Amino acid sequence: MTYQYKKKCNCGHLDTYELTKREAAFNLKDRYVLNQPCSKCLKKNGSVSSVNKPIDKDLLKEWSIKIQLNFCSQDEDLVLAQESQLIHIFIELLNSKETLNEKEVSLIGAMIEMINIEIHKAEKADLDLVNLIFNDLQKRTRLYLNFEMKVLKFIEQYS
Ligand SMILES: [Zn+2]
Repeated sequence: MTYQYKKKCNCGHLDTYELTKREAAFNLKDRYVLNQPCSKCLKKNGSVSSVNKPIDKDLLKEWSIKIQLNFCSQDEDLVLAQESQLIHIFIELLNSKETLNEKEVSLIGAMIEMINIEIHKAEKADLDLVNLIFNDLQKRTRLYLNFEMKVLKFIEQYS
C-alpha cells in the first residue's frame, strides 16, 4: 500500500507527495508538504488532502516509547479506539514496563472508548471484546487501589 498527500494549489494544479507508512502514521511530513511550492506556479498556498492512517503493531510499539510521536495531535484515544483488532497489542503495551505513562493514558482512554462504541452500535455488540477490555481494566483498577492503600498507610504512619 502506498501513502500520499495530494496538495491542491489555488491555481488548480495538483501535486502528489509520496510518504512512507511511518511518515503517514505519525504526520511526519505535514509541515514539509505545506511548505512545498506548487510545481506549476511556485506559490505555497493550497489545501492538503488527508491521508489514510496506518496503525499496526510495529508503529504502536515505537509510539509507546517515544513521547514526540503521535498518531493525532488531539483526541488520540478516539483515533486509537478505531483499532479494536489491535486490542491484544494494546494490552501487551500496557503490561510493558517500557511504555511511557502518557501513552498508557491514551491506551486506557482508547479501550474505554472501544466499549462505548460497542455499547452504542446499532448492530450486535462484540461481547468478547467488551469482556476482554472490562476484565483487563478491572485488574488494573485493583492494582491501582492496592497501590493507593499502601500509599495512604505510608502517609498515615508518618504523619
Ligand atoms: Zn499553483
